[in-house]
Amino acid sequence: MGQKGREIVKMNVDELLTLLNKALADEWLAYYQYWIGAKVVKGPMKDAVIAELTLHATEELSHAELISTRIIQLGGTPVLSPDEWTKISNCAYDAPVNPYVEVVLEQNIKGEQCAIKTYSELLDITREGDPVTYNIILTILSQEVEHEEDLSSLKEDLELMLSRGK
Ligand code: FE
Ligand code: FE
Ligand code: MG
Repeated sequence: MGQKGREIVKMNVDELLTLLNKALADEWLAYYQYWIGAKVVKGPMKDAVIAELTLHATEELSHAELISTRIIQLGGTPVLSPDEWTKISNCAYDAPVNPYVEVVLEQNIKGEQCAIKTYSELLDITREGDPVTYNIILTILSQEVEHEEDLSSLKEDLELMLSRGK
């Protein structure tokens, strides 16, 4: 922990650490939801969907990396056990029980919308008190916004393809 780095934080660090650990749990669940979704997904445009889901999985993992690094900088402990993930997360884990492309896309769009809401609130909370965390959250939020749009546009293409000639 860097002493001066923690000193300049003008908000309750323990509360911030709790919120960052909740976001870290979200990222691991999002990572796995994309990763396993890419393995099991079936249906039209499967290859394009697999490519996007796989890329998003790696991007969620990079978010987990950014958040855990920040938790350690602030003197906290990143959540140590996967048992905790579903207990402390903000966003629900949606298992791709139905592997049909459209269903998997919809589940992940819902996940991104939850992530956008969560990070947008974290931005408001950190704006004044912790510009370093704010900057990290802003980077992540920009990517979640991109993820939502990527998936929505794939879903739109899928719907256009399926309605051809009707
Ligand atoms: Fe993420
Ligand atoms: Fe995302
Ligand atoms: Mg993408």
